[in-house]
Amino acid sequence: MSESTKPSAIPPTKFIWMNGQFVPWEEAKIHVLTHVIHYGTGVFEGIRAYKTKKGTAIFRALEHYKRLVRSAKIYRMEVPYSAQDLVEVTRELIRRNELEACYIRPVIYRGFHSLGVNAAPCPVDVFIATWEWGRYLGPEALEKGVRVKISSWFRMAPNTFPFMAKCNANYANSYLIKMEAVREGYSEGITLNHLGYLSEGSGENIFLVMDGVIYTPNLASVILPGITRASVIQIAKDLGYEVREEFIPREMLYIADEVFFTGTAAEITPITEVDGIKIGDGVRGPVTKRIQEVFFAAVNAEEPRYEHWLTFM
Ligand code: PMP
Repeated sequence: MSESTKPSAIPPTKFIWMNGQFVPWEEAKIHVLTHVIHYGTGVFEGIRAYKTKKGTAIFRALEHYKRLVRSAKIYRMEVPYSAQDLVEVTRELIRRNELEACYIRPVIYRGFHSLGVNAAPCPVDVFIATWEWGRYLGPEALEKGVRVKISSWFRMAPNTFPFMAKCNANYANSYLIKMEAVREGYSEGITLNHLGYLSEGSGENIFLVMDGVIYTPNLASVILPGITRASVIQIAKDLGYEVREEFIPREMLYIADEVFFTGTAAEITPITEVDGIKIGDGVRGPVTKRIQEVFFAAVNAEEPRYEHWLTFM
């Protein structure tokens, strides 16, 4: 995808799972007065299932559903399903939708009842949708890399929105970051946090490589604790790299040898330019490439060491 190419529309599948039922795609609807629409009172996940030689495999399914259930807990939503229950539902949904590789989008949200900001009377509803999905930052991005800018928007401060929860409302901030970046001709925006240190992209964590050491912002930098981030840290350590999680100044991006994004959607995407400054040689670097190779081997069930990260159908 070139930076100007629009993402494609969601291709329908047979079913969406809603509150315990497999509902036909066209019937999976909610009322306009549902609480979440008005106040962003939902939590969600983005998960991928890959088509591997050993069959379809969900990448780190339990970790994603644990984060979802924890996000709900932070927002005081009582969920009648465990993370493991939701993994099993997802396997059944993928089978019923006859998908080989797909994106998985579970949402837990405050449903229809009353519209006061006190959502206590509103039910906690759950749905899971699955559909076929391509490369988030474009098919060429994984090799060629992307150009990004530091956003004029900051990430939320830690005492405003709980950043460890993947809450729908947080994505109003992400929306502003992404829309600004794309409008100005970049693929993505990177935020600084309330302290002025690096935080993350609108939907990705960020890593940089300098003098052979790998750096990524720590949790206190206001980041979503990404599951791809955790996987990349593990892979990098297993490859023998030193990985430092710490506060990172903005300018370290400019002088880094390599920079890359991680995320379920972005996978591992090299960043070749920040604010018009070329990173390293301006092409995907060797450390990024090495980590990508192991990561894609892992998600494609070609790396026995990480096969426990996969849930087969
Ligand atoms: N940060 C934000 C703000 C995100 O939306 C995402 C995507 N879920 C990530 C980081 C990456 O997280 P993960 O690797 O778990 O997809």
